[in-house]
Amino acid sequence: MTDTKITLPESEIPTHFYNIAPDLPTPLAPPLHPGTKKPIGPEDLAPIFPMGLIMQEVSQEPMIEIPSEVRDIYRLYRPSPVFRARALEEFLDTPAHIYYKSEHVSPVGSHKLNTAIVQAYMNKQEGVKRLATETGAGQWGSALACACKLMGLECMVYMVRASYEQKPYRRIMIRTYEAEVVASPSKLTAAGRAILAEDPHSPGSLGVAISEAVEDAAKRDDTKYALGSVLNHVLLHQTIIGQEAKQQMELAGEYPDIIIASHGGGSNFAGLAFPFLKDKLKGDRKQLRAIAVEPIACPTLTQGPREYDFGDVAESTPLMLMHTLGHRFIPPPVHAGGLRYHGSAPLVSHLLAAGLMEAEAYHQGEVFESALKFAQCEGTIPAPESAHAIHSTIRHALAARESGERKVILFNLSGHGHFDLGAYESFLNGTMDLMA
Ligand SMILES: *Cc1c(COP(=O)(O)O)cnc(C)c1O
Repeated sequence: MTDTKITLPESEIPTHFYNIAPDLPTPLAPPLHPGTKKPIGPEDLAPIFPMGLIMQEVSQEPMIEIPSEVRDIYRLYRPSPVFRARALEEFLDTPAHIYYKSEHVSPVGSHKLNTAIVQAYMNKQEGVKRLATETGAGQWGSALACACKLMGLECMVYMVRASYEQKPYRRIMIRTYEAEVVASPSKLTAAGRAILAEDPHSPGSLGVAISEAVEDAAKRDDTKYALGSVLNHVLLHQTIIGQEAKQQMELAGEYPDIIIASHGGGSNFAGLAFPFLKDKLKGDRKQLRAIAVEPIACPTLTQGPREYDFGDVAESTPLMLMHTLGHRFIPPPVHAGGLRYHGSAPLVSHLLAAGLMEAEAYHQGEVFESALKFAQCEGTIPAPESAHAIHSTIRHALAARESGERKVILFNLSGHGHFDLGAYESFLNGTMDLMA
């Protein structure tokens, strides 16, 4: 029997990020200035991002070196294992081989730390003392808080009020790393005060929290802004996931037919899929399918048009060409908080338009049913976000049973669900809105 857990030594932590931009069949459309609606240049982003990250954002270099200080911190949890889901295969009675890359092994329990470490490092290099950010479910806020502490920066997190109240443990994690966390909308920013004037009990949204964090960064000299998904440089950093997974699949003697990941802003999907899509873009592996999975409650890729839109409610970010449900769209409160964003990464939107990948959307009831099956077979309790990838994987494995094909499926276990047990409880107690 081949190994169940496919591991790599620390010496195999990738030395470079893979930049898909120069390999795209057509170039990416530029972001537009929120005021003039003209294409923006690097200097337009300088008030809120350090130049090192801005240069990565627009880079056409195929491989971008990972600083050794960043690789040293990656040693705390990387390379992350790939597992063969033997018990799940057996339970599904499928000829498919199911593998998963396990990003839940990071200290904060998700893939988001991969980019948080790079962002904290690049800011520190340029003398930035403090980072401001938003967080929805709390995964990104806790990842950036951890990275800032490890790098010796201060961190300010605007946390969507609904999550701030419902998810005290993520909030406590952020404080454990000595970051400051406030409920958004807050009284600290003009954007927050404007929302509170309209509705003092506003539950907040990711779009509002982004406006607050951007404003915080723009008005303080010592502070820059950090974003946990969507942007080119964030997706770039996550490509260490797929580069490792490629080596691990090689060790297993297989190459995936189908790659599956959940989709909120596109970073864990891009991270796993882009290094494999590189082969497809080069003309090899033409049959490879890459599938991004989202909730029906926030169907950005499956129902949103691809057009220029803002990243936030206050219309303060550049306009990006992306699949979007509109920057004022506030999704229903499904439990996969990390998938409740109105937009999608321009890079992912571009690949979808080019027919190089696919998207699927599911109801949360069926997603949680699959999450439980996975936990019962494999032991690990998945994040509700990751459970979207699991549900799609199970469907494709069952289709392989129907057709008798020995498909190789690789999905991204982007995080664990230890702080989402309230969602599991509502599913187990029968109080969850299964059709949301
Ligand atoms: C944030 C998050 C997601 C969704 O964000 P992407 O940028 O699309 O990856 C998925 N899974 C987990 C565990 C997350 O924390």
